[in-house]
Order: sequence, then structure tokens, then C-alpha cells
Amino acid sequence: MSHTNKIALVTGANKGIGFELATKLGREGIKVYIGARNTARGEVAAQKLREEGITADFILVDLHNRDSINRAAELIQQKEGRLDILVNNAGMIDPQDGAPSTTDIETIKRTFDTNFYGTLLVSQAMLPLLKAAPAARIVNISSGLGSLTLNEDPTWQLAHTKLIGYNASKAAVNMLTVQLAWELKDTAIKVNAANPNFTDTELVPGAVGGRPVEDGAKTAIELALIGEDGPTGKFFEDFSTGEECPW
Ligand code: NAP
Repeated sequence: MSHTNKIALVTGANKGIGFELATKLGREGIKVYIGARNTARGEVAAQKLREEGITADFILVDLHNRDSINRAAELIQQKEGRLDILVNNAGMIDPQDGAPSTTDIETIKRTFDTNFYGTLLVSQAMLPLLKAAPAARIVNISSGLGSLTLNEDPTWQLAHTKLIGYNASKAAVNMLTVQLAWELKDTAIKVNAANPNFTDTELVPGAVGGRPVEDGAKTAIELALIGEDGPTGKFFEDFSTGEECPW
């Protein structure tokens, strides 16, 4: 299937998994908007893609700043009139995050501001543009840490990573995925979530042993490019094998 002429927005695309997503979508011939909260970092990333021959533009999208989100939607409306692919990738882990009994509520609120409220605000702002596209795709970058089932499993390899802010915010992203897919089930729009698994990025400074970004981004790219026979309202571990992540 040709994806040329499609328009995509990837949030948090200046580095890590988001940059990889933007690169791979761009190589499909898709025009990519590099969503970033920092102009210099976003411009550098967009320029790198343009040097590869990809059509890429930086767009200011700060998940803590509702005006920036609304302005980004207005700009895409003016320039393109539609959006075919939205990847809600931007996310963070607060270094103060930890156990539910002791973690400061402000830490948890900050985490939710980015990972959940920011993701929700971007989705809401972009929805009119997504509805204007023939068959839009929304991909939410979630995490196995957002799975209630895995959090409850003592044998899971990340069973000891109990960050109440981050894990709960990604569980909320999963709920958004299910509910938005449900709300849009009679449209051509498909909404899915991807688990990148432990990937070698700057998300957790100093963390080592993650897999390469190409692997972490793979399922999300596939979900962004699914055809009309593709799923909606699902959470994938590995889309190519059909392996889902438990909710
Ligand atoms: P990363 O390298 O730290 O990239 C995170 C991106 O999000 C950066 O572009 C960052 O921008 C951006 N961001 C953070 N807060 C933002 C805000 N308020 N507004 C706009 N952008 C913001 O981490 P990553 O691993 O690629 O993370 C990408 C996604 O994958 C996240 O949703 C993360 O939760 C998820 N994930 C990652 C892993 C993993 O092991 N790496 C595993 C599961 C899920 P700045 O450069 O300006 O900070």
C-alpha cells in the first residue's frame, strides 16, 4: 500500500523512539511534522530528516501547554486541512516517581500532565483533522508498565518497577485507547496502543541494556500504517506476530 501524500504528526519526535518513528514514516513518503516542545531541538531533528530527503517540518507541541497544542492543530489545518496519522509518543518518567505510599502528589500530577492529559489534549485538538482524512490512524505509545495484568504478576521481569505516577499514567493512556476506539468505531479511524518494551533512549538516564530504537518503534510504525482490515482498540506487544500486551 502506498502511503505517499499522507500527513503525520509525531509528538516528542526530536529524539528517541519518536525520532525513529518520524524517520521511518518519512521514508514511506509521508510528510512528517516533528512535534517537539523545544524549538531548537525540534528544528535540528526536522533538518536531519530533510537532509535524508524526507519532507519534515518542526511544529511546537508542548504537552504542558494547551495553547501550543491548539496552535499546532490550527497550523496543520491551514497547511494541510487534514491529518492521516497521529502518534502520541511524547512521554516522561519523573526521577522522583516511586512507591504509591510515599510518592509526592506533585510528582504524580506532573507525570499525568504529560503522559495522560497532554496525550488527551493532543488527541482532542487533532481529532477534527483526523476526521477530515480518509482513514486516519492514532497510535498511542504506552508501556508494559501501564498494564494492570503485568503489574499484578510477580514473575514479570519488570515486577519491581512500581512507579505509581508513570505506571498509572500509561494505564490511563490505555483507557484512552479503548474508549477513543469505541467512540470512533463507526468511522474509518483506528486507534491502537503499542508497547515499545525496554528501549535504549534517554527516558531513564543511565539505564542500560534496552533494545535498539528500531525495535522499540517497530510495532508503532506498523500500527500507523495498517489498512482498513487492521485492528482498533488493541494494545500490541509485537504487531507482526499478532502478540498483544495484556491490559
Ligand atoms: P526519550 O528519548 O526521553 O523521548 C521522550 C520524548 O518526549 C522527547 O522528545 C521529549 O522532549 C518529549 N517530551 C517529554 N515531555 C514533553 C512535553 N511536556 N511536551 C512535549 N514533548 C515532551 O524517551 P523515549 O523512550 O523515546 O520515549 C518515547 C515514548 O516511549 C514515551 O511515551 C515513553 O513513555 C515510551 N516508552 C519508552 C520505553 C523505553 O524503554 N524507552 C518503554 C516503554 C514506553 P525533550 O527532548 O524536550 O525532553
